This record gives sequence, C-alpha cells and structure tokens, in this order.
Amino acid sequence: MARSAANAQESPWSGVDSPRRSVLADEIYEILKSKLMDNIVEPGARLSIDGLSRDLKVSPTPIREALARLESDGLVAKRAHVGYTVAPLIDARAFDELFRMRLLLEPACAAWAAQTATSAQITSMKELIEQMGQPVSGDDYESYKAFAAQDTAFHLALAAATGVNLMVETLERLRPHAQLYRLYYTVGITDDALREHERVLTAVNRRDEAGAAQAMTAHLSASRARLAHALNAHGDA
Ligand SMILES: [Zn+2]
Repeated sequence: MARSAANAQESPWSGVDSPRRSVLADEIYEILKSKLMDNIVEPGARLSIDGLSRDLKVSPTPIREALARLESDGLVAKRAHVGYTVAPLIDARAFDELFRMRLLLEPACAAWAAQTATSAQITSMKELIEQMGQPVSGDDYESYKAFAAQDTAFHLALAAATGVNLMVETLERLRPHAQLYRLYYTVGITDDALREHERVLTAVNRRDEAGAAQAMTAHLSASRARLAHALNAHGDA
C-alpha cells in the first residue's frame, strides 16, 4: 500500500492519511472484529502484530490501528511485555456495573433529549429505528453487524440530541455495545429492542421527559434481562 511520494515536499497534506489507507485499516478492523465477536479466537489468546500482518498480507500499520480501535471497544486488551490479547467475555460483575451505569445515565439522557432534540434529529433517529427493522438472517456477527451498529447509533444519537458533548463522550466511554453483542447475537432477540426504541422516541417527540426516561429505563431493564440469559449460558459452558 505504498503511497505516492510525489509532491510530498510542497504539499501541506503529505502527512495526512490517504483515504485508501484508512479504508484498508477499516477493513482490517472489521475482519478482526468479526472473528472476536464470533469468539473464533479464544479469550486470552495472543494477537501478534507480525503474525496478523503475515496472515492478512498487509503491513503492520493498519493492524496496529485496528487493534487500537478494538482495544477501545473492549474487545482486546493490551498488556506490557505481552502485547495484545483477546479480551475475556464480559463477566457477571462488569455486566452488572455496566447496566447500573447505563440505568443512571441513559434515562436522564432521554429526558434531556425530550427537551432539546431538533425535529431533524428526531427524523434521523426515526430512520435509524426503521433500518434496524430490516430482517436479520443467520446467527453470526456478520448477520447482526448492521443491527448492532444501528443500536449503537440510536443510543449515541439520543445523547447527541441533548446537545451536550460530555453526554456523548461518557456514553462512548462505557462502550456497551461491542461487549454486549458478543453475547447478544446468540440470543437473537431483535424485534423487542426495536419496539422499545420506538417508545423512547415517541416520548421524545411528544416532549414528554418523564415518559422518555421511563421508556429508556424499560428498554435497558428488558435488555439486561435478555442478556442475562446469554451471560449465564456462557458461564455454564
Ligand atoms: Zn438499544
């Protein structure tokens, strides 16, 4: 993936990533992510940059970029002297902590958005929910990828609709979705989540703060109950 060095001296953009390179890094990220989401590589397994670079026939740079993104998704861990390893599946304690944090934050976020969301933001959230309604076939991550992305996008769009950057950043920092979907696709419940999102948005659209908070609490509680089954199933395995 050699980049042209032409005009490198006079161009103010010579240090900027070419689109081609970031497309490659995105592709590598998606390839690695789907293996991790489907648990094809064992938790704890070492991910060697040189090994992956050989196997995938690309330079180490996009591998390094992809691994850094996967680390912030919580799917890989970086340890001194060891390098990157596959993160363990979320355990019961981390699962409980994650939902307690989300239950504190996201109902308040929904109530806030009911005051502040613009009609353009409401329309685009409506579109996200409609896209989420597309049927899912198969039970691997590839089948659930779009659904997972739209679920994440809906929660972040609601946070963005508060107009408070810290809300978006805090929610992103919790990184709930990659970890949870690693359990989730085996459960295969999609229609319920869709209807729950609709209830949140309907309340936001009515400018009903209490209703929006309540609908989000209901969504997160239902989601926690659905996922607890998946968590137990993995625990028994
Ligand atoms: Zn959701």
